[in-house]
Amino acid sequence: MYGIDLSGKVGVVAGVANRWSIAWAIAQVLHEAGARLVLPYLSAREQRGIEKLIAGEGWENVVVPPEPCNVGEDADIQRLFAFVGREAGRLDCFAHCIAFAPTEALRGEYNKTSREAFRIALDISAYSFVAMTRAAAALMDGGGSVVTLTFMASEKVFPAYNVMGTAKAALEHAVRQLASELGPGNVRVNAVSPGPISTASARGVKGFGDFQQMYRDRAPLRRNILQEEVGKAALFLLSDLGSGVTGEVVHVDGGYHIMGV
Ligand code: NAD
Repeated sequence: MYGIDLSGKVGVVAGVANRWSIAWAIAQVLHEAGARLVLPYLSAREQRGIEKLIAGEGWENVVVPPEPCNVGEDADIQRLFAFVGREAGRLDCFAHCIAFAPTEALRGEYNKTSREAFRIALDISAYSFVAMTRAAAALMDGGGSVVTLTFMASEKVFPAYNVMGTAKAALEHAVRQLASELGPGNVRVNAVSPGPISTASARGVKGFGDFQQMYRDRAPLRRNILQEEVGKAALFLLSDLGSGVTGEVVHVDGGYHIMGV
């Protein structure tokens, strides 16, 4: 559809929970471009949901691993990428679309964040990217491309986004550090920073509807962006179109981030 040919390429897209997930939009554009995909999941419920989505699309070259992957567990991450190695023998692109913080940390005041909520948010939302990229890069013989999803709360204060903003700041630093270390092996590492999109995770942030209204009022494009628009930016970064780009955070937010007032 977008004139990009990924046939013969293998991708892992982690973070499909349902059809509203940004990861699902990324899976759709990569599949459309011809890539063979592995779609991991956290729970049996997500597994059933993904299998239904795949059946609904009539996709054939997409594999759902036999076991779940909780990215808080090193063994699960190793098991996932060992499965990818056995199934496909190599990996070309990896999309990390995973974040989590305990609900109580996404409401109320940031200064009340507990040590445990802070640990969990940083572990699942930022460290998992380091561990998964290490495992993914080991399968990217001769090169590959990795993308994660961040949010502008890494740079500016969004009330109630709280510790997830700290996690996104850590994630963006990890993008630069990993890009620097993996670049000599021709593995590129980038992030897409979308504007607010109504997904299951986003709806857990108190006042999320207000964020969306702010973007409609103030972003140069005067609208909220769509999952598919994040998918297209990810396709650019994960394909040869982005061959010279690494360590970058690409905002897909209707231009909201450039505004001063
Ligand atoms: P989503 O709820 O559809 O996806 C979140 C995914 O994270 C789910 O698939 C969930 O299972 C997975 N996950 C959480 N904890 C996990 C764990 N321990 N192990 C494995 N998987 C786990 O929501 P989404 O909005 O599509 O989120 C995807 C990414 O996009 C997140 O990193 C989010 O921060 C980022 N993002 C979202 C928005 C937005 O407005 N929706 C904006 C900017 C960035």
